[in-house]
Amino acid sequence: MSAALGDTVEALNASFAGRAPLERLRLLRESVPGRIVFTTSLGIEDQMLTHLIFSEKLKIEVVTLDTGRLFPETYALWQETEDRYGRRIRAKYPQAEALETLVEDQGVNGFYFAPEMRKACCGVRKVEPLNRALAGASAWVAGLRRDQSANREGMDFVSADASRGLVKANPLFDWTRAEIAAFCTRNAVPVNALHAQGFLSIGCAPCTRAIRPGEPERAGRWWWEDETRRECGLHVDDPVAVSDTEERRAA
Ligand code: SF4
Repeated sequence: MSAALGDTVEALNASFAGRAPLERLRLLRESVPGRIVFTTSLGIEDQMLTHLIFSEKLKIEVVTLDTGRLFPETYALWQETEDRYGRRIRAKYPQAEALETLVEDQGVNGFYFAPEMRKACCGVRKVEPLNRALAGASAWVAGLRRDQSANREGMDFVSADASRGLVKANPLFDWTRAEIAAFCTRNAVPVNALHAQGFLSIGCAPCTRAIRPGEPERAGRWWWEDETRRECGLHVDDPVAVSDTEERRAA
């Protein structure tokens, strides 16, 4: 990590205390020159951030990763959100050739059969498009919360994404789901219809199920895998390499 990146992270974390999410976004925008990219999966946290960014006309790009396997309800919400705010959510798609190779190699639903195959799918459909979305950006905004899972407990407002050389900010890191839901209700922010059906964390349709009462919030994501491996590679320092599939084919 460069000294400048470390200094920026330290300064932002030192001055965020007591600020509301909108003020955190403004602080980030004032403090970091260059492009800031917010990636939304259209979950409830991301909808709150989209509301703040669009309503306040903040100079932050709003981008989604369309894996091609999203729920119909998610596409409906995407349209509803654009209609509500009169703004376009830019989309990044998997590279066609890499996707064709992936499906040829492991089948259309190969992600169910082995963790490496699931990671390869996330690599092609999510991580590589994310890397393109963030290329040249100075900061990345996401909607992660501390209480979503054990490996997010130590999260701060900002951290350094050393591998991409940018500041990563989670303005809702210390908010609860209930607080965010209340904000969305108060402000008539559109949210995914699946939330009311027990889908608290929503990703691709084949890899997401509703959770049962008492289950952790993210228990419905990649539920067939070991709990400690349930991340898609978007929010780790060492993202899943896009070349996973190619390596397997070459092996
Ligand atoms: Fe593929 Fe499932 Fe990952 Fe979506 S969540 S990219 S379908 S493995």
